[in-house]
Amino acid sequence: MPTPTPRVSVRTRRVALIMLAVVTFSLVIAATVVTYQRRQPPLQTINYSQLYSLAETSGAVALQVEGETLTVTRSDGSRQEATVTGEAAQHEIVQLFRKQNVPVEFRPLQPGFLVSSLNWLLPVLTLAIIGFAGWRIYASMSGKGSFELTDHNGQQNVGFDDVAGVDEARAELSETIEFLRNPERFSRLGGRVPRGILLYGPPGTGKTLLARAAAKEAGVAFLAASGSSFQEKFAGLGAARVRHLFAKGRKLSPCIIFIDEIDALGRQRGRGGDSASADQDQTLNQLLVEMDGFDQSSAVVVIASTNRPDILDRALTRPGRFDREIAVDLADVGGREAILKVHARNLKLEDGLDLQWIARGTPGFSGAELANLMNEAAIAATRDDAEAVGRKHVEIARDRILMGAERQGFMMDDDERYATAVHEAGHVAVGLAVENGDPIHKVSILPRGRALGVTQSLPERDRFMKKREYLEDQIALLLGGRAAEQILLATMTAGASNDIERAVEIARKMVSEFGMSRLGPIHLGNGDQPTSQSLLDRIEEATNELINEQLERARDIVSAERESIGRLVELLMERDTLDADEILSCFNNSKNVRAA
Ligand code: ADP
Ligand code: ZN
Repeated sequence: MPTPTPRVSVRTRRVALIMLAVVTFSLVIAATVVTYQRRQPPLQTINYSQLYSLAETSGAVALQVEGETLTVTRSDGSRQEATVTGEAAQHEIVQLFRKQNVPVEFRPLQPGFLVSSLNWLLPVLTLAIIGFAGWRIYASMSGKGSFELTDHNGQQNVGFDDVAGVDEARAELSETIEFLRNPERFSRLGGRVPRGILLYGPPGTGKTLLARAAAKEAGVAFLAASGSSFQEKFAGLGAARVRHLFAKGRKLSPCIIFIDEIDALGRQRGRGGDSASADQDQTLNQLLVEMDGFDQSSAVVVIASTNRPDILDRALTRPGRFDREIAVDLADVGGREAILKVHARNLKLEDGLDLQWIARGTPGFSGAELANLMNEAAIAATRDDAEAVGRKHVEIARDRILMGAERQGFMMDDDERYATAVHEAGHVAVGLAVENGDPIHKVSILPRGRALGVTQSLPERDRFMKKREYLEDQIALLLGGRAAEQILLATMTAGASNDIERAVEIARKMVSEFGMSRLGPIHLGNGDQPTSQSLLDRIEEATNELINEQLERARDIVSAERESIGRLVELLMERDTLDADEILSCFNNSKNVRAA
């Protein structure tokens, strides 16, 4: 995951240095040439008749002819220059000077300064470019320059103060930190310290942050690389990079080597026969070799992170390699509050703004999303010219994150707005009618992101277990838009395509992973036992059945709620965005009303 802390990579710095050297060198040479040319006495330009009279009186001691330019040197050392075109005229003048016994020197035409500098500038530049390219190729061949060293002195800018809501993971790391602080003591006591730690969990939960903080806590250097940077165009380069990374780590010992997105290089080996996957296997093998090669004396700990632990090659997690696995999960409500506190540190909050309230309204948000939320709220407050960040700004920020930014200047005509309103009203009607859904929070027909309208529901609590009824309601809710189009507009719009995609995704999971269809519990084969085509066909069929069932249900709800939907559409056309109370006011005479 990207981290906001600026990191200067070793490679960028070195490139900058070399560029600087080349530029300085060229400037020095240019300056020397210019001063050298300037050292001759200044020239005065005269016209042809002045030159002619000079030729007649004997005021000159030398004459130079260079193309059309004639330069006279006087006895006092001063020089004068005149332009004489035409061979005959030149010849006449030259004869006159010769008569006065003035020596005449014919010089080959001198190119101008720019042209003459090209003479040396070109080869120098060419050399510089060749050198630079060669260096780059060398650097990439030897596997250098693909990773970042954040700090040599353990002066990390991220500490455990900046990571919240991941106390368990943090506690699990404490032994490692202890070891890095005092490796001798550990080996004397004969303790076996895990050298490889795998942090796994959804993106944005603070895995990178934890690894950095551990380095700071231990006061050691932090060497970071991304798994994807080992995927190389040239065969064998990935392996060379791994070798180089570990060599560097050993040199910096004690240190932490962090490999982000290790799944990019640690996928199961021997899948495809193509050369790319063969090269990847080689890279992974190199990593295994390096992990095995740690001796007791070197204080290097490798931390890797992934959100797909399931696809990792099993060899990676064998003893002596990444044999400690630490889950970094989405935070619960208390954890979210703690994370919010970290990111509200430098913000001025209104008195009425309670972080716990925000935490309750953001189930499923990752640490990165919470950081983003506080940032967006601060921006909204600034735009508002407000003294402090208030509830209103947090609401704006949350809508932005959940629904995408409003698209400014994108105008729908009234027909489109009406169709969008009907579609969204269908979602709302179904969302209110189903029993197990999340309460409807907001509906809008302002285009946001790629969507023309949005219906937003918010879980009232963290959901750790998803029941069959919840998933079915979810599918019905997604199809509510299409149902309303069919019934109230007697047409269908392409705007429902994303809804349908998501609905089918849920339905397929219910069938093929959760065993919630008439097929019962079924298992999809993996590489060793491929899934038969007939099973795939049956899964597709059962998925369709589920979808059609729920579409039928959504249509029933929409038919029953026609009047309320009509009122909602009208209000939406008028106000663009409605909150829970406004939504409820349209549905006041229906039985099953639940909103947030
Ligand atoms: P990951 O590596 O798990 O994908 P990161 O560690 O890169 O996630 O997190 C990205 C950003 O999100 C961090 O820089 C930080 O601002 C914020 N963040 C994520 N998790 C937390 C957390 N637990 N506490 C505080 N901030 C967090
Ligand atoms: Zn929709």
